[in-house]
Amino acid sequence: MSSIVIVGGGLVGLSAALALAGCAREVAIVEAGKPREAKPSGFNARSIALSTSSVQVFRALGLWAEIAAQAAPIEHIHISARGRWGVTRLHARDLGLDALGYVIESHALGRCLIDAVDAMPQIELFDEARFEAIAQRDEVEIGCRRKRKRMALEADLALIADGADSPARAALGIGHREIDYRQTVIVCNVEVGVPRARDAFERFTPQGPLALLPLGGKRYACVWTLRPAAAEEIAALDDAGFCAALEDAFGYRLGGIERAGDRFALPLRRVQAEALAAGRCLLLGNAANALHPVAGQSFNLSLRDIAGLYELLAERPLESLDEAGIEQIGVDYAAARAAEHGRVIRYGDGLVTLFSNDLPLLDSARAAALGVLDLLPALKAQVAFAGMGLAFGGNRLLRGRL
Ligand SMILES: Cc1cc2nc3c(=O)[nH]c(=O)nc-3n(C[C@H](O)[C@H](O)[C@H](O)COP(=O)(O)OP(=O)(O)OC[C@H]3O[C@@H](n4cnc5c(N)ncnc54)[C@H](O)[C@@H]3O)c2cc1C
Repeated sequence: MSSIVIVGGGLVGLSAALALAGCAREVAIVEAGKPREAKPSGFNARSIALSTSSVQVFRALGLWAEIAAQAAPIEHIHISARGRWGVTRLHARDLGLDALGYVIESHALGRCLIDAVDAMPQIELFDEARFEAIAQRDEVEIGCRRKRKRMALEADLALIADGADSPARAALGIGHREIDYRQTVIVCNVEVGVPRARDAFERFTPQGPLALLPLGGKRYACVWTLRPAAAEEIAALDDAGFCAALEDAFGYRLGGIERAGDRFALPLRRVQAEALAAGRCLLLGNAANALHPVAGQSFNLSLRDIAGLYELLAERPLESLDEAGIEQIGVDYAAARAAEHGRVIRYGDGLVTLFSNDLPLLDSARAAALGVLDLLPALKAQVAFAGMGLAFGGNRLLRGRL
């Protein structure tokens, strides 16, 4: 009997369970928290930008209509640098698309995924179950503690999706590299005076990039990267002081910042696992790669990893494989995904370096880069397709079907 166990029931673990449910007779998710009980957090809710590749994956899983009903489409992206003439604009219609991406509250996306998981009899979500140990012999065995009781789950394949600090990755002996960007991101929601509901803004400042993403109506999600000392000062400002500081950095394209919700400050680091697989265990999501949020790519990349893994398991059903065959899935998964991981990491780090540095030469370079980009539709389309996750080849899920 083929079975998959997933360690971690965050957005990635839940998405993997739904995508791979057809590839195994049983899928179990081991999740330390209580995701079914997560409550919406009103004005302050966190959100995530979904690329076109993610839309395709959710379409293939039959979830897109429900997700889209709660998401705000981005039809235009305006990219500028503070105090510089260089500007570029990306328009969905120029690329023959309805939207360049969608923004959805993470809670709403999580709710759709949990409901879908609960509706599938072959998926079992063990919440309040904390991973403790892993052993690989003829099968993989995941040991965990659930409500004070020890529990062991055996499976043919284990997917490790327990976040950037991944206890399961450490238990497998897979090391990781960590880069401290020496930046802090302030995340909050704001209300603006003159909303342009389908426009997203990415603005590069000497401190770091600042994004405003539409959430519908006057509400925008603000993701503002700053040097740690400046972030500490700005995060500590009262509401009026914060709105004024944000207006100063962003300008008045949206008619002023009228309200700011609670501010959350997170130090930024990139965590990259040194291997994507060990025996019957494969790494996904932040456990594999936790990236800088500047390009909004981590979750979108993880969905493409899941699509790649689905492709391997669709070609080689788990139940037809012996031990060597299953271990080969891990080898092939790592080989198939490594190049794209490298490209996405270089793309994000390139943006961080080019747009978070106040050296005069770089200042002119980024203004020129934006100006030139705006004049070259083919190059602009390439940048847009990279951002939408469409520049990385296709497979069944990325074509929107199982
Ligand atoms: C400010 C910011 C903005 C972002 N914006 C975007 C964006 O616009 N687009 C995008 O694609 N990405 C974005 N990202 C990245 C995105 O949020 C992450 O890629 C994604 O949430 C990672 O999900 P995950 O499920 O891999 O990890 P996590 O969300 O960390 O989930 C891991 C899960 O594992 C569980 N767990 C941990 N330890 C154990 C254990 N011992 N036993 C059992 N379970 C355990 C946890 O409870 C958790 O539920 C952003 C990130 C940041 C910080």
